Amino acid sequence: MRGSPARRTEPLSGAESRAGRLHLIAGRLCLNFANTASGRGMERALEHLVSYDTLLDWAVHSGILGSEDAAALAALAVRQPAAAREVLSQAIALRETIYRLFTAIAERRAPAASDIAAFNEWLARVLPYMRVAAADSGFDWRWAEPRRALDSPLWPIVRSAAETLTEAPHDRIRQCPGHDCGWLFLDSSKSGRRRWCDMNVCGNRSKARQHYRRVKAAAGLA
Ligand SMILES: [Zn+2]
Repeated sequence: MRGSPARRTEPLSGAESRAGRLHLIAGRLCLNFANTASGRGMERALEHLVSYDTLLDWAVHSGILGSEDAAALAALAVRQPAAAREVLSQAIALRETIYRLFTAIAERRAPAASDIAAFNEWLARVLPYMRVAAADSGFDWRWAEPRRALDSPLWPIVRSAAETLTEAPHDRIRQCPGHDCGWLFLDSSKSGRRRWCDMNVCGNRSKARQHYRRVKAAAGLA
């Protein structure tokens, strides 16, 4: 079962991490964040959040932070390395909580009470930083001084998860069945039959594996 990883995910080195280039296919910020690791418990598990800087890379890539905010936080992390390391481990804990909550939803199971409680602790931590500000038309959400808090890249992720839990159609939350994948997404297709994170990645890989098995079986090797 994907929800309970049996093996530890192998972290990539900072240079190997694709945190700043990962495909953002999930349709929701919080689910894209869950997809910064893949193949949990599988043969080829990948961890892209391997340093505070890779968390910033992903936050810029996903539109949470502008490059100036990211540069300010990177400088703050240089001055407070232990605090930055702590935020990275908190980010991974938050991500795994989000992953477990939405994997349960994708599998039509009730999420664990401990995960709901852990998520509510995050909400309580983040809510004091929420602000509204007048915009060109109406109002926008803002955050209180994100450059001063190393954990500010996590705030919008928590808000996204709360909104997705309460507002998104749960029967459209899916988990890619691709080998060593397990990425989560919200299926917003018209037909509601999206199966893969990306047809060109996991869809085709699955077809190739099926083909290989058939060829092997035909040759009497399987
Ligand atoms: Zn996939």
